[in-house]
Parts: sequence; C-alpha cells; structure tokens
Amino acid sequence: MASSTTTSVPGRVATTALGLALAAVMLLGVLFLLQENGLLLSADAAAYLHEATHDARHALGVPCH
Ligand SMILES: [Zn+2]
Repeated sequence: MASSTTTSVPGRVATTALGLALAAVMLLGVLFLLQENGLLLSADAAAYLHEATHDARHALGVPCH
C-alpha cells in the first residue's frame, strides 16, 4: 500500500490568498453598486453611477424607481 504525502506549495497559498482578496473586492464593488444611494458620492456622481448601472441593477432585481 502506497502512502500518500502532501507537500506544501508556497505559490498555492499565495494564489488562494489573492483569490480571496479579489473575491472580497468584487463583493464590495457589487455591494457599492447595489446600495449606492448618494450618501457616499456627490449628487452628480451618484446620478452618473446610477445611469451607468441602471440596466444591470434592474436585471439583478434592485428597486430604484
Ligand atoms: Zn430603474
């Protein structure tokens, strides 16, 4: 019976950490797009962001009007 050994690959750990960091940034981006209500941005910037993401917001079921 052959025994299996696990070896630590340093690059794999770094890749996993990078993937988790990217996933967190993307989730924060989606949260920002879905929840932006003018509190964080000026009125002009909020209106521009709303118009730029309007169809995607509706496709995701976000009520906006
Ligand atoms: Zn709308």
